[in-house]
Amino acid sequence: MSERQRANHQLSAGRDEIAVVGAGLAGCLLACFLARRGYPVALYERRPDPRIGTPERGRSINLALSERGLDALRRIGLHDEVLAEALPMRGRMIHPVVGAPQLQPYSAGGDLAINSIGRGALNNALLAAAAKLPGVRVVFDHRLVGLDPATGEMAFETPQGPVTANAEVVLGADGAGSAVRGQLLEHDLLTESADFLDYGYKELTIPPLGGDFALDPGALHIWPRGTSMMIALPNPDRSFTCTLFWPTHGTASFASLGSRAAIERYFAQHYPDVPPLAPNLVDDYQHNPIGLLGTVRCDPWQAGGRVGLLGDAAHAIVPFYGQGANCAFEDVVELDRCLDECADDWSAALPLYQHRRQDNAEAIAQMALTNFVEMRDKVASPVYQTRKKLEHALERALPGRYVSEYELISFATLPYAQVQRRVRRQYQVVGAVAAGVLAALAGAAVALGRGRRR
Ligand SMILES: Cc1cc2nc3c(=O)[nH]c(=O)nc-3n(C[C@H](O)[C@H](O)[C@H](O)COP(=O)(O)OP(=O)(O)OC[C@H]3O[C@@H](n4cnc5c(N)ncnc54)[C@H](O)[C@@H]3O)c2cc1C
Repeated sequence: MSERQRANHQLSAGRDEIAVVGAGLAGCLLACFLARRGYPVALYERRPDPRIGTPERGRSINLALSERGLDALRRIGLHDEVLAEALPMRGRMIHPVVGAPQLQPYSAGGDLAINSIGRGALNNALLAAAAKLPGVRVVFDHRLVGLDPATGEMAFETPQGPVTANAEVVLGADGAGSAVRGQLLEHDLLTESADFLDYGYKELTIPPLGGDFALDPGALHIWPRGTSMMIALPNPDRSFTCTLFWPTHGTASFASLGSRAAIERYFAQHYPDVPPLAPNLVDDYQHNPIGLLGTVRCDPWQAGGRVGLLGDAAHAIVPFYGQGANCAFEDVVELDRCLDECADDWSAALPLYQHRRQDNAEAIAQMALTNFVEMRDKVASPVYQTRKKLEHALERALPGRYVSEYELISFATLPYAQVQRRVRRQYQVVGAVAAGVLAALAGAAVALGRGRRR
């Protein structure tokens, strides 16, 4: 018996095996947390090992990783390793159609940053961490196609044909199109809804320019264009991954723009600083896929204390607050906490986990939708820019007492639903103070007018 098999055997002598379906971001992190608790874990992934082979074209997706995600990584000792692959972004760089780009810092002090990291790099780091833990078995090329929620019996498609397996607890971390959720639905154990936007996303690349970054690498770049936008995040190889968020149909949409000449004309008119920096723009545009954007909700998130859902499988959200993965990581931390509090009684821990997370997932789903309008439209308006400056001034004047929504979401771990409530209260107080100041100013003006007339 090898060292690893012996460790597995010792662990499984104490605890039953847990199946985690999906070796994506949430699944790999979850495997690490469960292995730390002493569970033997089988981590099933439909794809081959992503550390071998080339990534899919136009699906690199770099993520903004912020405090909620970093907090989870810190707990398993991966924080420093992951941040070494990331680039800090301290604000939004707004690119108008005409004129120079302007930086809008994320925090009052201008020092706090979210971190740009490739989803593949983050996934690989988590996968490597999970795979080297005693007790974790990573099983690639296994697509879950069947699940009996009462017995934990699973059916997989593999390149060698159908395979079955069994586990005491099955956790679905298999993303927005979750097969585990689909199986619970088939067994009438949950309800689900999916609200898709009339928008899609497509990636383009801005390569290094003369060996260096073509744009400021310390910012998340936004080209707000009212009903649509483009963003760009820096990569360690000094390139930028740009993402177009455009309507799928209608005028000025992915559907309306196809020919080389039309694409060149459109970008020259609406994104004039981009074509000189993106030599493969037309090729990227014509060949990269269009991704869907939507919000998935389901209820409950668990069945019989034996099957549970985490991350996008439980609550996929639109990406406009940069929180999908951060939120998925928080799920894992919360489930771990619930297992602590319930002495590893899964039938108590899974309902408690759902109870604590569901409102928070709904809150960030709503805030992410609202933030789309802010990013594609409001950030360009002088009124918004003045409001942001006032907000930062308030933060400096009332440290800890007035904190912007963005900072509470990205640089803190206050539960999302509490952020929503706190921000509403802050706006009410600021609104009342502003109304009082305006009333006082109006009163003073009237008094001054009367004085002059006398
Ligand atoms: C354009 C875009 C930008 C984004 N930007 C950000 C950002 O800035 N910050 C942020 O925090 N989040 C961002 N997100 C969201 C983030 O990517 C997701 O929330 C995150 O990947 C969810 O992790 P997950 O592990 O739940 O699901 P996934 O990462 O989707 O992983 C699911 C895994 O399950 C596997 N799988 C699927 N079906 C099966 C099956 N039947 N059997 C076995 N395995 C299966 C998949 O192959 C995959 O490995 C963005 C998303 C998009 C689309």
